[in-house]
Amino acid sequence: MVDSTKTDNRERLVVIGNGMAAGRVLEELFERERDRYRVTVFNAEPRVNYNRIMLSPVLSGEKTYEEILIHDDAWYAANGVELIRGEKVIAINRDERKVISAVGTVADYDRLIVATGSQPFIIPVPGHDLDGVLTYRDLDDVEAMLAAAEKGGRAVVIGGGLLGLEAAAGLKARGMDVTVLHLMPTLMERQLDQSAGYLLQKAIEARGIEVVTRANTHEIAGAAGAVRAVRLDDGREIPADIVVMAVGIKPNVDLAKDAGLEVNRGLLVDDLMRTSDPAIYAVGECVEHRGQCYGLVAPLYEMAKTVGAGLAGDDGLAYRGSLTATKLKVTGVDLYSAGELAEGDDREEIVLRDAAHSIYKRLVLQENRIIGAVLYGDTADGPWFFQHIKNGTDISEMRETLIFGQGFAGAGPLDPMAAVAALPDDAEICGCNGVCKSRIVSAIEGGQATLDGVRATTKASSSCGSCTGLVEQLLELSLGGDFARAVADGMCPCTDLGHGEVRRLIAAKELMSIPAVMQELQWKTSCGCAKCRPALNYYLLATWPGIYVDDQQSRFINERVHANIQKDGTYSVVPRMWGGITNPTELRAIADVADKFAIPTVKVTGGQRIDLLGVKKEDLPAVWADLNAAGLVSGHAYGKALRTVKTCVGNEWCRFGTQASVSLGVQMERFLWGAWTPHKVKMAVSGCPRNCAEATVKDFGVVCVDSGFELHFAGAAGMEVKATQLLCKVVAEEDVLEHCAALLQLYRQEAHYLDRMHKWLARVGMDHVQAAVVEDADNRRDLYERFVFSQRFAQSDPWSERAAGRDSHEFTPLEGPKLEAVT
Ligand SMILES: Cc1cc2nc3c(=O)[nH]c(=O)nc-3n(C[C@H](O)[C@H](O)[C@H](O)COP(=O)(O)OP(=O)(O)OC[C@H]3O[C@@H](n4cnc5c(N)ncnc54)[C@H](O)[C@@H]3O)c2cc1C
Ligand code: SF4
Repeated sequence: MVDSTKTDNRERLVVIGNGMAAGRVLEELFERERDRYRVTVFNAEPRVNYNRIMLSPVLSGEKTYEEILIHDDAWYAANGVELIRGEKVIAINRDERKVISAVGTVADYDRLIVATGSQPFIIPVPGHDLDGVLTYRDLDDVEAMLAAAEKGGRAVVIGGGLLGLEAAAGLKARGMDVTVLHLMPTLMERQLDQSAGYLLQKAIEARGIEVVTRANTHEIAGAAGAVRAVRLDDGREIPADIVVMAVGIKPNVDLAKDAGLEVNRGLLVDDLMRTSDPAIYAVGECVEHRGQCYGLVAPLYEMAKTVGAGLAGDDGLAYRGSLTATKLKVTGVDLYSAGELAEGDDREEIVLRDAAHSIYKRLVLQENRIIGAVLYGDTADGPWFFQHIKNGTDISEMRETLIFGQGFAGAGPLDPMAAVAALPDDAEICGCNGVCKSRIVSAIEGGQATLDGVRATTKASSSCGSCTGLVEQLLELSLGGDFARAVADGMCPCTDLGHGEVRRLIAAKELMSIPAVMQELQWKTSCGCAKCRPALNYYLLATWPGIYVDDQQSRFINERVHANIQKDGTYSVVPRMWGGITNPTELRAIADVADKFAIPTVKVTGGQRIDLLGVKKEDLPAVWADLNAAGLVSGHAYGKALRTVKTCVGNEWCRFGTQASVSLGVQMERFLWGAWTPHKVKMAVSGCPRNCAEATVKDFGVVCVDSGFELHFAGAAGMEVKATQLLCKVVAEEDVLEHCAALLQLYRQEAHYLDRMHKWLARVGMDHVQAAVVEDADNRRDLYERFVFSQRFAQSDPWSERAAGRDSHEFTPLEGPKLEAVT
């Protein structure tokens, strides 16, 4: 029995189902009235509320489950919601106003919400119950597909609709051979016309996925209880290790039906989302409203507004049905469809085709109003057309240029900004979340200056992402030049993808070269630019150690020539001195090199190393050869890499020292050097809390204490001065090394190129780093081992390679122009 202590006299609200609709109802309710109800939620799934529409990016590896959570545990705690996970409600007793779960939990209600969603439809052909026949609805399904994909083999997806194609693309990205079987002659025939369906099929096939249309499944053949093949009714047999059925959904209404509520195809509701029992609301895909069942998120969110308002006592916000738009979430396939697409005597069409660019746009008009739009290849104007469909705009005035989109609206010059500016305040920008223009603009006026900021405050662009372009245009419109700086945080003008997306896609699609990334991720320039090339080079190096070969041409000049360019065009050379320690041989070699090459300045750096300044570029290989001869190697003083480990003298010399800071610093530097990182990494070890090595302004700092070592990180003392955060305390030197390497590896895997460690921390949060490096010992070991593996390929001295002749062209002066007599 759910706790119903009599001290709490609030009304009891019970919710059955914890999907996207239920979650949104609670948000709507809490925005209006936080404390009116004592809320209990039952979820048949053993988890919190997540963004189901993002399961496809999880399947393809572009997102993780954690990244698609809508409400985490903290949210339920903060809002006082009791979430009962993994318990299916099996009965509603309307007379006694109770619900009963499969394990016997009973909860009393004053108001009940049924939000049970839909079930995948399973074609009852012979063999449908064999092992390896999967559906695509929740995270368990994704996990089953991922487990199957790990073994490789062949997948057959039955159904060439939105879900089927997303499943097929995800399984292909995970390395399976995939065939899509579709009953109809063209894919996604409910949303697309034949031309767009044809282009879509070509794009899917170009990804290496086989598509068989007019394919009627007759039987799923098995061997030893597991799937072996799919047999079509024309006798063809397609071998399969798994079969994913994605042929449609049906509202999940059995519970409601058993409780005697009125049910047709879905659970019947009125415009206030009330069922035939006034104490019971229903919302989401389980519902039938004015004869319509919906399978997309935008209408459910509109319904949720009505239910949230109703629960808060406001019955003025009736739901009157929705128009829907669809976007396919297969990376690289741009497809948008909205409204009515069928031909009819009273309907006209405007069509634009650009065969060379695989662009196709079609608008269906009725009485000078757009009633349907399908866009393939260039979908930027989708939401704009959708808005006109919803508003019933008379388009007579702009008919000539209508198909070219909002940039040409009103036959004016190409100015998308003017078109966005002209949108009314109530124009819906984000269909999934029902966010209108004025809400976004007020968030920006309230201080949100980035896409992420607007997402966090308004939810716009946080679901399927198809409105991202419009939200960015609103940011640009409101912030002008200030937003330009904010966008510069993204990768570069060569791509619309951000750093995080590019990193994920490199791994998910196993892209192993810069040209492969640019081709697959649809770079807008042929060869990239000075911003994206070094970043891609780093991401590939970090993702594929031992496989990807460093591309010198994609490095900044200092890293290309392994020295720091100075303001007069000469270079400076800093040999590595492990832990800041040197000896007479090394000092002699440095002095000799300074003499021999007439190096004008020898200086001690802030990181306790010796800098030889004023070396001519062509002398660099010879300088390195002489330094190498004395055992000195590059200090990477120029690199996005480990720079130095500064040490104090520690207990070897100092009266206060509690630990051997020098030898620990040397160990760390010998272990970590050579690792390429998103930005420079500086370290220090201090032998006691007096902290003479200034370890608390480093990327990673160790402060020795009586009982062990305090590990600090994410400090800086450059343009921005930042004190470190305490990561944890450890006891032994081995622990220091393991934590340090694991942290460095996490940073290498997750940071955006050119993010110092503190910037990365600000983005991912302390909880995330501590969970990954401190609390989860297995994960820490895993990170550590990945770091150690990649060091096998990283620890080679670039100076000795260059001194031996590699990339010698870099150091050969260019010949001056020769003048020849013209006869
Ligand atoms: C892979 C995938 C991709 C999608 N992509 C898109 C997209 O791009 N755009 C879009 O708009 N929509 C998309 N959708 C559809 C969208 O996710 C759904 O419309 C939406 O999630 C439905 O919300 P809901 O709350 O009604 O149901 P659900 O989110 O399905 O939630 C219902 C919940 O109720 C629980 N439940 C059911 N019965 C009981 C019971 N008796 N007791 C307790 N709990 C119960 C279920 O376990 C489930 O967790 C996609 C769906 C999938 C599966
Ligand atoms: S940090 Fe402590 S051990 Fe190191 S030099 Fe300073 S006082 Fe001595």
